[in-house]
Amino acid sequence: MGNTVAGKTIDQWIESKPVLENVSEGEKVFWLNDGQLPYAQAREQVSAEPERVKDASDRLKRFAPFIELVYPETKANNGLIESPITHIPHMTQAIEEASGQELSGTLYLKRDDSLPVAGSVKARGAVHEVLKFAEEKALEAGLLSGYDDDYRKFASDAFQDYMSQFKVQVGSTGNLAIATGVMSAALGFNATVHMSSDAKQWKKDYLRDHGNTVKEYDTDFTEAVAQGRKESDADPKSHFVDDEHSMDLFYGYAVAGERVAKQLAEMDIKVDSEHPLFVYIPCGVGGAPGGITYGFKEQFGDDVHVFFVEPTQIPAMALSLITEQYGQVSVTDFALSGQTGMDGLAVGTASRGVAEIMAKIVSGIYTVTDQDAYNYLSKLIDTEDIAIEPSSTPGMYGPQLLLHSAEGKAYLERHKLTDHMHNATHLAWATGGSMVPEEDMKAFYDLGC
Ligand SMILES: *Cc1c(COP(=O)(O)O)cnc(C)c1O
Repeated sequence: MGNTVAGKTIDQWIESKPVLENVSEGEKVFWLNDGQLPYAQAREQVSAEPERVKDASDRLKRFAPFIELVYPETKANNGLIESPITHIPHMTQAIEEASGQELSGTLYLKRDDSLPVAGSVKARGAVHEVLKFAEEKALEAGLLSGYDDDYRKFASDAFQDYMSQFKVQVGSTGNLAIATGVMSAALGFNATVHMSSDAKQWKKDYLRDHGNTVKEYDTDFTEAVAQGRKESDADPKSHFVDDEHSMDLFYGYAVAGERVAKQLAEMDIKVDSEHPLFVYIPCGVGGAPGGITYGFKEQFGDDVHVFFVEPTQIPAMALSLITEQYGQVSVTDFALSGQTGMDGLAVGTASRGVAEIMAKIVSGIYTVTDQDAYNYLSKLIDTEDIAIEPSSTPGMYGPQLLLHSAEGKAYLERHKLTDHMHNATHLAWATGGSMVPEEDMKAFYDLGC
């Protein structure tokens, strides 16, 4: 008998869920979630609270005058950290030419690669979590008289001195560290980032330049996170930003739903049962895509269809949902390498809480190879002059799969959408990229050519 995973051998798993054979061979798959429920029904069952999305949204509005003061680039958006939605007709044409198949509907890119403060989707969740911690501390100390006080005070010496007694810590190899570290330092917190030694040098340098303490570990990334959590838990004045468990991150991400609803309305883009909206988001631990999915479902209900995308060698969320062992199975259980050049997605085990919610609301998950990611990275630069990081590109594979694969066609039939696809809006989420140094981007570009 070989090793077992949640009481079954791999062969037994494959027998009960045949798609696991393809997943465990590292093949590309497009898995449809049969557990997805009509949203009215799902909403009653998932352990997520709509009021907490509103709470996060209100908090971000209260802090907007402070954000605008410290990050003048957010002025155009009145201090809200938001990104544009860009039409990419030349990329669409290149996708059609490469596949020889029409892309019905209109493809847009959600440009979180250019989000202010951190240049990645993490700015949504991490900024919210750090602001919440700061707000609590300021209210406790009586520095802030209430929610209607002037939040620009957070930039004052008095506030910054007070906050410097507290620590914010995080374990991450990349984008989460940057978003958390930069926001924490801007509020005066003592920010400590725990990183494995293989994290990119430019990220460590950037964090140190922005007032962070960077602790490096020779062991792997999991160990860096565990050490960070342990150090933080031992210190009553320290807050740990926990990528795997934090609902403050999740609700920060979820605010994207109302923001995009407003943007689409301003662009005169309709979303209803005859004008379906499809969203394709790269998934790592699940917090960012999961929170965004929840926010979208709250806005658009059954008229939005969200698909996740993961690397073939590290499909943590797919394994969690297919086996229904949420957050309890790892890619190594299924003998996958866990290696990927899409470093924002290099997470071997999905967040349990997020996976349990996604089991009822996400439409499906497809996987792509690293080479796919590099190919689209180069193509996007060539056609639209937009440079995003590898993890950020594979959402653009979604529309063709949905329209032309057997699984995609089955999904459209099942939801009676086949005849409405010329009205469809496809939103591929670009999750990061503006901070990648030019020489790194050049190397990625060459890999895609
Ligand atoms: C973090 C990240 C993701 C995925 O977010 P998770 O919360 O880990 O699922 C996707 N793309 C980029 C660029 C990221 O940094």
